[in-house]
Amino acid sequence: MPSVLRRLLARLAPSTKRSGRRRGFRGRADPAAIDDARWQRMLASMRWLDHLDASTLERLRELSAGFLARKTISGAAGFEPTDDVRLAIAVQACLPILRLGLRAYHDFVEIVVYPARFLVHRKEMDEAGVVHESLDELAGEAMERGPVVLSWSDADPSAGNRDAGHRGWNVVIHEFAHKIDLLDGEADGVPPLPARERGGWAAEIQGAWQGFCTMVDRLEAAIPRHVDPESPQGEAWYARLPLDPYAATDPGEFFAVAVESFFVDPEPLAEVFPGLYARFRDYFGLDPLAVTGQQPPPQPAGRPSSPDDAPSQAAAEMEPPPSRS
Ligand SMILES: [Zn+2]
Repeated sequence: MPSVLRRLLARLAPSTKRSGRRRGFRGRADPAAIDDARWQRMLASMRWLDHLDASTLERLRELSAGFLARKTISGAAGFEPTDDVRLAIAVQACLPILRLGLRAYHDFVEIVVYPARFLVHRKEMDEAGVVHESLDELAGEAMERGPVVLSWSDADPSAGNRDAGHRGWNVVIHEFAHKIDLLDGEADGVPPLPARERGGWAAEIQGAWQGFCTMVDRLEAAIPRHVDPESPQGEAWYARLPLDPYAATDPGEFFAVAVESFFVDPEPLAEVFPGLYARFRDYFGLDPLAVTGQQPPPQPAGRPSSPDDAPSQAAAEMEPPPSRS
């Protein structure tokens, strides 16, 4: 694992811990209307939603109201979520379900919010049967058929994108993308799909993930030895990638990171992985590039993105990120 990835463990693999089946829906409660002033204030804090048209925003508002009516958003470690905190989480969580609807989140009720990153003790057994223990600092966690856990300092939209200088970072979308992926029991980058579409999607995600891993390997081979990968100078190298390097972890993380990018900063994804972008466009029911007036990518060509795809021109031309404090 590239050393920089260890620092990015805040992007957690979804837990395999099961917390028991919960009822996600109780009847058909009408979503409470979201007050106009609050809604406008929320949109103003998420300028990356400016490209959405009026009907999409109305759908997002309706879903957010339904989400708030059905989910419990509670604080931990002394944090007390305000109504604005709840709404900010709901809006971000509902972006990936514009087409899918709230049924996609039927299998859990709880969202737990910490004030900042939180520590999770893990025990994992490797293939040789050796148990490895670790204490990870996390920005978010999605549990299969269980709650979503978030760090508010990372989920707060008014704080902007801030991790490692990478564009398109959004922990709420990331964790809720895992929830959608987990609906069929595995965080493998293949969400629930009609049987006839599963094979093509799986090949697309595998090909794109392998291509991305090749990009990371090439990039790391090119970083001069005297550059510490975890220094601002090293991170500027990783910023040449089209996605956060954490996406190289496995196909499930690749999917969650790519979904974040799709909603928040779609250009690099569309340019380097046009087939995947097109599948996301159809699956999530939104074409972020089209609504921003840019050229949408072509339809999937029926084959996965080539692993030989080097970082694109656009990616290579990215500005180095600001250094971390
Ligand atoms: Zn993840």
